[in-house]
Amino acid sequence: MLGKLAAWMRIIGCDVLYFKKISGDELIEQALQEGRIILTRDTLLIKRRKAKNHFFIHDDHYEKQLKQVVEHFKIDPFKNIFTRCLLCNTPLEDIEKEFVQGKVPSYVYETQQNFKICPSCNKIYWQATHKGCVVRQLTAIFSN
Ligand SMILES: [Zn+2]
Repeated sequence: MLGKLAAWMRIIGCDVLYFKKISGDELIEQALQEGRIILTRDTLLIKRRKAKNHFFIHDDHYEKQLKQVVEHFKIDPFKNIFTRCLLCNTPLEDIEKEFVQGKVPSYVYETQQNFKICPSCNKIYWQATHKGCVVRQLTAIFSN
């Protein structure tokens, strides 16, 4: 139920795992083992399981959720933007342009200079036009 929040947190570079289906016990166990904080809207999870490392998300809307998290944990939403794989959460690494030839669309190869790769799932990222769009959206979220 917090999928959109999770996606946005990865965009701004936060280390986020997201589970569509996981039992409360597993979730709490994994969070404890990995030193993670559980972001949840599920008050029952908190009450029944007495999960200690949780943070309750108040709002239904992802923009307000993101704002709540960023403000509470004092995250700079622009500092680490696009540094983490959006698919698998792994920190991205720089890759020389010559190595991505044939692996990205040719117009991208011709127009982009800087590429990053996910060392885990091998997805290649570049400074696409949507970065400006994302920054504008973030600016809007955090300016009011
Ligand atoms: Zn990845």
